Amino acid sequence: MRRKHQPYRRNDGFWSCSVCKWKFASKPSADNCPGILRIECANDEYKTAAQWRKLGFEPVDIGDADATSHGHSSKWHYYYRRDHVRGLTKRAPDAGDSAQ
Ligand SMILES: [Zn+2]
Repeated sequence: MRRKHQPYRRNDGFWSCSVCKWKFASKPSADNCPGILRIECANDEYKTAAQWRKLGFEPVDIGDADATSHGHSSKWHYYYRRDHVRGLTKRAPDAGDSAQ
């Protein structure tokens, strides 16, 4: 879910934003805020939908990304957190799983 830009001054003189948590040298305008957590690039916890699909998962809600990064040609890349994806293949419950 996107939230409104919330810039604040850090102790070290830099600016940050409680929404995107990015570090800025000067007070950032809302235009610089993606409205969700901003990260450097994909990592173990945050991956794009395509990256998750390769691993056998898909985002629970494709329209609700958890993080973003600024890619080339001013495009944002969107990432989904590990706990917001589910397995692509639905395995039927094994008969042996049920308690006797
Ligand atoms: Zn922000």
